[in-house]
Amino acid sequence: MVVQTKRDDTTWYECETCGLLFDEKSDATEHESRCDGSDPSYIQ
Ligand SMILES: [Zn+2]
Repeated sequence: MVVQTKRDDTTWYECETCGLLFDEKSDATEHESRCDGSDPSYIQ
């Protein structure tokens, strides 16, 4: 889930799964759709 946070007049979008911050909501949403912190599947 992407969480919107505001720091110093700047809005950030945080990936709730891994805690990464993005300044573009589209970037956060795209990341979040691929982020699976609770069930890592990067290893192939
Ligand atoms: Zn993430």
